[in-house]
Amino acid sequence: MTIERTLSIVKPDAVSKNQIGEIIHRFERAGLKVVAAKMLRLSKERAEAFYDIHKNRPFFNDLVNFMLTGPVLVQVLEGDNAIAKNREIMGATNPKDAAPGTIRADLAESIEANAVHGSDSPENAKVEINFFFTPAEIYSRA
Ligand code: ADP
Ligand code: MG
Repeated sequence: MTIERTLSIVKPDAVSKNQIGEIIHRFERAGLKVVAAKMLRLSKERAEAFYDIHKNRPFFNDLVNFMLTGPVLVQVLEGDNAIAKNREIMGATNPKDAAPGTIRADLAESIEANAVHGSDSPENAKVEINFFFTPAEIYSRA
């Protein structure tokens, strides 16, 4: 068992479609626990900082603007192998390539408005969790 924590974001498209519960239910069914959560609206500066690793990609400006279109739910998921497990439940970035039964295959509209974000490595998970949460806001249930 490797208990990990990862950052998950329910993106503006899924929030506006009232799919928060549907998405969290999928994490919980897979054994992941929500140990921190809040809803917020990103500023342009915060969205640019969060996606800084993508700043040279052609889709960067569109991605930042999309993340500003409405509130998001940010959460920390905890559980065995949480980083890879979350990515598996999310599905591939492009919903057209996502495996059947994944969040993105079932709920996402496009490669940009793709319902969820999930950390892709232990290093990034740590940075991304610290970006949104202080240690006192995380309620470990490991
Ligand atoms: P993932 O979210 O699966 O980790 P990436 O880290 O590669 O994917 O990209 C971050 C986000 O940028 C994606 O979730 C998606 O919203 C957006 N994105 C990625 N590739 C494209 C693209 N080719 N066109 C538009 N938006 C994209
Ligand atoms: Mg990514």
